Amino acid sequence: MKFNTKLVLGIESTAHTWSVGIMDFNGKVYSVANDTFIPEKGGLHPYLVKEQHLNNFMSVIRKALNDAECKIRDIDLIAFSKSPGLGPILKIGAQVARMLGQLLNIPIIGVNHCIAHIEIGRLMCNINDPLTLYVSGGNTIVSAYESGKYQIFGETLDISIGNMIDMFARDIGLSHPGGPKIEKLAQESKRYLSLPYVVKGMDLSFSGLYTAAKKLIESDSFGKAYGRNDIAYSLQETAFAMLTEVTERALAHTQKEEVLLTGGVAANKRLQEMIAYISKEHNARFEVVPHKYAGDNGVMIAWTGVLRYQSEGEHDNRFTVIDPKERMDTLSIPWRG
Ligand code: AMP
Ligand code: MG
Repeated sequence: MKFNTKLVLGIESTAHTWSVGIMDFNGKVYSVANDTFIPEKGGLHPYLVKEQHLNNFMSVIRKALNDAECKIRDIDLIAFSKSPGLGPILKIGAQVARMLGQLLNIPIIGVNHCIAHIEIGRLMCNINDPLTLYVSGGNTIVSAYESGKYQIFGETLDISIGNMIDMFARDIGLSHPGGPKIEKLAQESKRYLSLPYVVKGMDLSFSGLYTAAKKLIESDSFGKAYGRNDIAYSLQETAFAMLTEVTERALAHTQKEEVLLTGGVAANKRLQEMIAYISKEHNARFEVVPHKYAGDNGVMIAWTGVLRYQSEGEHDNRFTVIDPKERMDTLSIPWRG
């Protein structure tokens, strides 16, 4: 294929998914290819994830290039996720990006993964200045653009919403990822069992909720007075109401006219319903990022790389050092404002 505009290759490598996206500098997507680690039991073991990504990174790059009908020599910019995430996994993305950049003699740019979730939502939903609820296996963040940065209005103080649901699913014998299975179970019940609802200021805590749900499974009443579906329903209602409360307060404070829901948990219909409801109450337009781009993907990294590259130019290798704990509210966003 012949390309009229510059091309970017984006690499996502923060956790379970190694993903490569190819698009042009105008935001047209040509391909996305993924390889996702699925644990047989337990959570994400960084060593096992790292081994899988190291074994597969080149075949995923090759698939993305083939699907886009382009060659590696056609690429003008490499973007990669430099933060936040699991250190050993971030390192693979950074090393592959540096290798490709040096081999092809093209610029590379490091991208904050959380900012990328917002930017791909703005692009795909054709939305300008949203309040964003980002809910995934690794993060739970309510944020919006203000004073030159993506400010964090609320976040989890312990585990993420996706991780909490996955852990509970595992405890009742459901395989990873648990989210969609818990959603299905929850639809079979309307019986609310009281569970801890923990919102502290604008922040959330899910660990007490998880422990309480686990105790319900271990209790003698389990299977008699109530079942898995009742706990799944109650867990979702409680956790999602907590998310909705914080999102609504941030919306009232920021007066944004758009609300964006993103991350893997955004697929949940009940959560969508709750956030849609409060958006309507505040006369804000509500959008959910399309499933393909809501979970971790290389396209969101590619696009955010283009935005930063166009405003800051290429990053020196020193600025492409990974930062597993980098907060998005520490970075300036020169392409907005
Ligand atoms: P991510 O980390 O963005 O790739 O998203 C993965 C997370 O999304 C996992 O914790 C999944 O269990 C969760 N997830 C996916 N689909 C759903 C759903 N329908 N309801 C709740 N959680 C979901
Ligand atoms: Mg993510």
